[in-house]
Amino acid sequence: MTQQQIQPPRGMNDVLPADIAGWHRLEGVARELFAAYGYQEIRVPIVEHTALFKRSIGEFTDIVQKEMFTFEDPGGDSLTLRPEATAGIVRAMISNGLLHNQRQRVWCAGPMFRYERPQAGRFRQFYQLDAEAFGFPGPDIDAELIMLSARLLRTLGLERIELHLNSLGTPASRRVYREKLVEYFTAHKARLDADSLRRLEGNPLRILDSKNPELQDVIAGAPVLTEYLDEESRQHFSGLCRHLDAVGIRYVLDPRLVRGLDYYTHTVFEWLTTELGSQGAVCSGGRYDGLVTQLGGESTPGIGWALGQERLVSLMRQQRGETPAAAPDVYLVIAGERADAAGLALAERIRDALPSVRIESNCGAGSFKSQLKRADKSGAHLALILGDAETERRVVGLKSLRVEAPQVEVAWERVADEIATRLGR
Ligand code: ATP
Ligand code: MG
Repeated sequence: MTQQQIQPPRGMNDVLPADIAGWHRLEGVARELFAAYGYQEIRVPIVEHTALFKRSIGEFTDIVQKEMFTFEDPGGDSLTLRPEATAGIVRAMISNGLLHNQRQRVWCAGPMFRYERPQAGRFRQFYQLDAEAFGFPGPDIDAELIMLSARLLRTLGLERIELHLNSLGTPASRRVYREKLVEYFTAHKARLDADSLRRLEGNPLRILDSKNPELQDVIAGAPVLTEYLDEESRQHFSGLCRHLDAVGIRYVLDPRLVRGLDYYTHTVFEWLTTELGSQGAVCSGGRYDGLVTQLGGESTPGIGWALGQERLVSLMRQQRGETPAAAPDVYLVIAGERADAAGLALAERIRDALPSVRIESNCGAGSFKSQLKRADKSGAHLALILGDAETERRVVGLKSLRVEAPQVEVAWERVADEIATRLGR
């Protein structure tokens, strides 16, 4: 009797070898750009104390109220799989004393977990690239972080992604606005859905972020935060816009952009595409000047963004086609008993001489014919052919698989040089 197969948990995906090339391209470009802008990698735990997320993201957010994977560990502590990276990074900055009189630029990559309704572009485990900067109060760093994200998208050859920009202002100006908003939505209570009614109590700004099409009308009529910004907030925001103008980064001023986490102040932004169905946000971020104190550290301004890797990889595929998988450079055919004894050692010898050349050895024997078929299918440029007769004479056959050329015989001592020449290395 066959056993029933085990499926992965809903909303959690395998990234298969056939699809990994696009991920590597994205991560490779990001890694280089982070270094070029002076951002250092930080790695933080995937699991943190539940209290960390409640205190940072906010009790009344969707994430904390219904999207967290929370569990008790065997010792009885409440732990949560991280739904986003900023809280853990801030915690790490504080725990390690990295914010005292210091400025920090860091980045991080890895999986996040949210118990959402899975659909295209929305998963329960998804990967993010994150960039964060601490200790910079002015709008110049806001601009730098946006320039970094813009260059990342540009380097990947992506187009038609709009930058939406807004200011949430200082906590003081937001309080004034919040009251106006509660007044307005209370007057229109009959038209709100259950989610929005809940938000009206705890977090009215989030109603503006509702994706319910039936609410868009009433949202469109709501008071606009921009009108309630104080002088300090206006100056910060116009400073940011000037920096972006100076490098020709275009943006859409979007007074309804509020973001789903509570800790934001001043700048918030989102890179949006219309080409991924309804999950159009590929990268989002903002400033969080109060978060470090909120988590028990000394007052330090902070700002960061997070990029959704699944969404970006799909967009790359849609706009640029598949990223070709890395094929081997050389396929080593090994046929016969003596050849079998010598083949892997020959491959090692070539790797010693040419560390960057990719060699696939034919493990598992087989006839010359079937191995050459595999060599061709592998996409390799060259085949090395080692039979018992070659092994006896310490030579190997060398055959070009992609261009017409006669097969030649090369001595083992010379084979690395010959491969380097053929591959132009
Ligand atoms: P959305 O409005 O799409 O729910 P969000 O505001 O919740 O996004 P953030 O918390 O700012 O998103 O996360 C940053 C980025 O991570 C998003 O712009 C998006 O690209 C990606 N992302 C967020 N949630 C998911 C998810 N459940 N599945 C896949 N990617 C996600
Ligand atoms: Mg969300």
